[in-house]
Amino acid sequence: MPLLDKHLDDYADVVEPGTLERIRALAEPLRGARVLHLNATAYGGGVAELLATHVALLRDVGIDAEWHVIHGSDEFFAVTKTVHNALQGADVEWTPQMEHIYLERVLDNALQLEGEWDFVVIHDPQPAAMHDYARGHGVAPDSTKWIWRCHIDLTDANPQVFEFFRPFIETYDASVWTMQQFVPDSLQMDRVVIAPPCIDPLSVKNLDLPHPFVNEIVKQYGVRPNDPLIVQVSRFDPWKDPIGVIEAYRIVKEEFPTVQLVLAGSMATDDPDGFHYWELADEARAGDTDVHLLSNIQQVGNVQINAFQRLADVVMQKSLREGFGLTVSEGLWKGRPVVGGRCGGITLQIEDGVNGFLVDDVESAAKRTADLLRAPDRATEMGAAGREIVRRQFLSTRELEDWLRLYGELQ
Ligand code: UDP
Repeated sequence: MPLLDKHLDDYADVVEPGTLERIRALAEPLRGARVLHLNATAYGGGVAELLATHVALLRDVGIDAEWHVIHGSDEFFAVTKTVHNALQGADVEWTPQMEHIYLERVLDNALQLEGEWDFVVIHDPQPAAMHDYARGHGVAPDSTKWIWRCHIDLTDANPQVFEFFRPFIETYDASVWTMQQFVPDSLQMDRVVIAPPCIDPLSVKNLDLPHPFVNEIVKQYGVRPNDPLIVQVSRFDPWKDPIGVIEAYRIVKEEFPTVQLVLAGSMATDDPDGFHYWELADEARAGDTDVHLLSNIQQVGNVQINAFQRLADVVMQKSLREGFGLTVSEGLWKGRPVVGGRCGGITLQIEDGVNGFLVDDVESAAKRTADLLRAPDRATEMGAAGREIVRRQFLSTRELEDWLRLYGELQ
């Protein structure tokens, strides 16, 4: 993947004192190390978002890092989407035919693996069998250290599907997880590391934007800058509960008739169901022109997402399952309170009543949103508290430190 240049020095004004010095000290013994990150999609999800910054910063601290994306097919991505759902707890049918489609494509990718690497980091289940195949076919030398990064909440994983993946995962030298509770008890691995994701405060999505510019951007999408706004930025996926967000918005609208909702979700290449769930959300919207369904197809890119999150009175992330939910930190970093589903990584980021609210259903999402709309000063205070929490725990520099430490330990 082609990447923008990033410079660690540019983060000096944003991060906690001492952070950059610690990063440089950890990076020094790794200078020149060759690191490959491999995932399934170049855009449209949290992993792609993370890698664009992480790999660029690794390069800036002297590491020879690259980000590659595996080659799939519609059939393969349909299977991996089933895997994703199953590992998040859905009841799915898992057949030998699906295993075959999966393994054949991963083998194909393993055979095309090029370059000599000191570390290979495989993200999520889509390419998880890569290590086994690469090793089995002599594609990567024995000295290469392999790390599996799981971004998914496996607390309720479908046992049949997890058992299929477990032997592949256990061949890795280490695995990295967002939360301890995601790590299944049955997993036998010596090195299990907890390192939650992060956001890049200097990315176009998170940079400060002047207010007039924000207003001009949202107006282009028919959003009124001076009326209340709820924003959820998410793929169109049942786990993100876009329909539940529309239902919560409807309840809020009874008290705040001018409230607007933006549901923005890019269509990812490894997410074949996106268009289907978009249509369901469109049906649920029932022609309400204050509900804006937007995506990359209407050129909603990073600047527009930035503007919508920044203008939001309430950022929502009403997920039913969530590995982390970068959108929560993105909203908090912009000083907005976040109403989030009480699940997975959202509970790491929202301190209930401090920087937002954790909610369990449509009614509580609506109630907490209306509470915040009724008390804008309190909402602003909560947003400010959220920004500090993100500054300390969820910026790219913290994650970079975690990874450099791991590479150093494995070296
Ligand atoms: N995103 C985006 N445009 C969209 C929808 C999502 O840029 O229309 C970004 C969003 O801002 C966030 C990432 O994609 O940075 C989604 O990451 P998250 O962890 O919230 O969810 P995931 O998609 O990985 O489940």
